[in-house]
Amino acid sequence: MQNKITILGVLLAIIFWIVNAFIDSLFAIDGTTYLESIFSPSGEKLWMRTFVVLLFLIFSAYTERLIDKIHSMTIQLKNYQERLQEMVAELEMEITERKHAIDELEKLSETDPLTSIYNRRKFNELLEREVERSKRYDSGLSIIMCDIDHFKKINDEFGHDVGDNALKIFSSTIHNNIREVDMFARWGGEEFMILMPNSDVNSAESVAEKLRKVIEDTKIKKINAFTASFGVTDLNKDDTTESFIKRVDEALYKAKSGGRNKVERCD
Ligand code: GH3
Ligand code: MG
Ligand code: MG
Repeated sequence: MQNKITILGVLLAIIFWIVNAFIDSLFAIDGTTYLESIFSPSGEKLWMRTFVVLLFLIFSAYTERLIDKIHSMTIQLKNYQERLQEMVAELEMEITERKHAIDELEKLSETDPLTSIYNRRKFNELLEREVERSKRYDSGLSIIMCDIDHFKKINDEFGHDVGDNALKIFSSTIHNNIREVDMFARWGGEEFMILMPNSDVNSAESVAEKLRKVIEDTKIKKINAFTASFGVTDLNKDDTTESFIKRVDEALYKAKSGGRNKVERCD
């Protein structure tokens, strides 16, 4: 459109110039004065009027061009904005997915795959934290270590799958019979740990006795006798995590050597 207006303006100027020259040469009079007497009887200068009209035409042509340019730039900006919004949304989605993946990995790194409870690595982390907390706030901390009795025999007699199933049943049974705040982990093989904040050796002993009975009463397909031995202790003032674990291990050893399916304590 603006091109048409510019061409029209230029054409008008050329026509004006030709007509002016034509009048000049043909009638030997001043063409401009003659045209002015026809088109501008009020006495205004015709060239002035033409110049203003020309200026106006050129100005409007460029204004339109400018408006068009601004319009296309606005559309472009809108497109950029939309693209940017899409990119932000994509990024947010990716961040959420990565967070999920990290959470998942973290969970895997601290979970025992067979029983879905904490693994030994995580338990050691919790143990360090709880020992420190117990010392700082002078709150009790007790621990139970348990080990399934004659588990090798179960594997040998009924196969590894039956053994695996017994491990799963054992861990879920224990899990269902301890407090939410207690930390339960697979220490290795058929050995498990329960860390109990705000609790002393006496309460740990009665919890272990309750668990011993529950396990004794648990019926597992094919397995006639299913029992476990338990060792308990609580944190002493000068304990390190190592001495704490060593003592509960000794308590468990006492239970084993005392005939199994027992709870023993080491103060
Ligand atoms: P004790 O009463 O003295 O504890 O005897 P035990 O037979 O339970 O102990 P022992 O240490 O002799 O044997 C433990 C067995 O546990 C040996 C090993 O093959 C088995 N075991 C360890 N981890 C797994 C597992 O993930 N699945 C199965 N099915 N067996 C396992
Ligand atoms: Mg065992
Ligand atoms: Mg063992």
